[in-house]
Amino acid sequence: MRLNILREDLAPDAALPTGPTDIEALVVGFSARLRDLTGVASGSVALHEPEFGSEEWLLVKECLDTGWVSSVGSFVDRFETEIAAVSGAAHSVAVVNGTAALHLALRVVGVRPGDEVLAPALTFVATANAISYAGATPHFVDCEPHSLGVDPAALRAHLERVADRSGGAAVNRETGRRIGALIVMHVFGHPADMDALSAVAAAYELPLVEDAAESLGSRYKGKPCGALGRVGALSFNGNKIATTGGGGAIVTNDGDLAHRARHLATTAKTPHPWAILHDEIGYNYRMPNLNAALGCAQLGQLKGLLIKKRRLAARYIKGFADFAGLSSFIEPQYAASNYWLNAVLLDRDRAAARNAILGRANSDGLMCRPVWTPMHRLAIYANCPRAPLPVTEDIGERLINIPSSAKLGRR
Ligand SMILES: *Cc1c(COP(=O)(O)O)cnc(C)c1O
Repeated sequence: MRLNILREDLAPDAALPTGPTDIEALVVGFSARLRDLTGVASGSVALHEPEFGSEEWLLVKECLDTGWVSSVGSFVDRFETEIAAVSGAAHSVAVVNGTAALHLALRVVGVRPGDEVLAPALTFVATANAISYAGATPHFVDCEPHSLGVDPAALRAHLERVADRSGGAAVNRETGRRIGALIVMHVFGHPADMDALSAVAAAYELPLVEDAAESLGSRYKGKPCGALGRVGALSFNGNKIATTGGGGAIVTNDGDLAHRARHLATTAKTPHPWAILHDEIGYNYRMPNLNAALGCAQLGQLKGLLIKKRRLAARYIKGFADFAGLSSFIEPQYAASNYWLNAVLLDRDRAAARNAILGRANSDGLMCRPVWTPMHRLAIYANCPRAPLPVTEDIGERLINIPSSAKLGRR
């Protein structure tokens, strides 16, 4: 059952009585309810822990036994084939981490130094950093409250205000810089509204890059996230739904883009029977075989991990449904989310209690975190161009991520 309990009207709520006892009850009650819902009676509960079975030990041992641990080996090929299949993509290139995958994605869609790249303000810093690595400047846009993904209507309205079309390219008329791409991110695994976003990208001839780092296994209108735009970036960091220790991948249906990404990721080395030649300045970004072995075993578990993640999410949503002062964050109607990270949203008149709630839950051993500091609030990105960001600002103050390890979703 879907419960529509996101309260996203942006008008400030009328002041309700929020005396100290009220807040204290919320702070204590939240920690107690959360403890109960995790099913872990005592001790600490991590925000996200990986889960390894016997296959993980077996495949990693095989690497050690055969000596194939580094950047060549059969597990890398197998991992790429499996990643492409899970993502519904024709091609995949495995790399050292998700940030490197994003960097390559921007390079291969043609982002150039001096460009701007549209990206959500509500994201992990890697999204913006990858833009910086490409020599470009992030241009932050707002998210919409149901998916937390980039808001297509707000994006279109913003581009109508600030973007000129000149010779096929979109140009920010305020800065004079070319807009080289649009990155969208599927926040906590919940797919952004890709059809509407693709339409805006097409109208401005912007290559659409998916930061699908958090959304392996999530579906948008039945289709897997990652290959819904020109190119997608996945992460297999230790805190993601499936891990290779550290790792990432590019997925795309465009064979030329995949070929170019692979070349750039392999120090741009040109094929030759014995000579060592490089035809441009590339990167050492290829995933080692040791990591890919772990990844192959993890992908074998993906279906079970997804079931456990969704079971945990359902338990939280049901368990917090009658809890006054907050609501659960639920996948958008068009999507089946992997529920990588569960979130609750404090009512606006309870937002001031956030830090006290976080303090109490963490001191009770329940690892909870605020959402990322929005990018435009970091000193390193404070001077970047941006659209109005009312939803990001609002969500940024009252969202709390709660323990989400798959193992908590065991029956
Ligand atoms: C994890 C993550 C990344 C980066 O992945 P790494 O593998 O840690 O480099 C990028 N974007 C988002 C949204 C992420 O959550």
